[in-house]
Amino acid sequence: MPWINKESCTGCGICVDECPAGAIGMENDIAFIKDDACIRCGICHDVCPEDAARHDGERIPEEVQLNLAYVKKLLAHEYYANDKAKQKPLLDRLKRFYTKDKKVAEKTIEALETLKNTECL
Ligand code: SF4
Ligand code: SF4
Repeated sequence: MPWINKESCTGCGICVDECPAGAIGMENDIAFIKDDACIRCGICHDVCPEDAARHDGERIPEEVQLNLAYVKKLLAHEYYANDKAKQKPLLDRLKRFYTKDKKVAEKTIEALETLKNTECL
């Protein structure tokens, strides 16, 4: 999902005018993207003169840190805290959980490739 770098956005409004889905709003003179409305056309990336409309791939490190914060929060729960015998199986369960997400993404990418090669979409 595209996102707006608030530090770079000057609030010029070009992306708001050009977005074909009405998915960009303004708050305090800074653009923001309404995720539910975005159709992923990529136009905001092309038209922003400040390069403030960014790609979601750039958020991978941030999302990894969010996942790790979630894991640490679970480890700190009184049920797990200071109990390695409980913490280790939890980490294995979480590895299975994130592996499942990875497999869903891989299978989805495979399906998209098949769809791309279908003559009549
Ligand atoms: S085009 Fe770029 S700088 Fe202008 S409002 Fe949109 S994101 Fe901000
Ligand atoms: S990707 Fe397209 S639909 Fe989504 S916010 Fe940007 S211009 Fe709008």
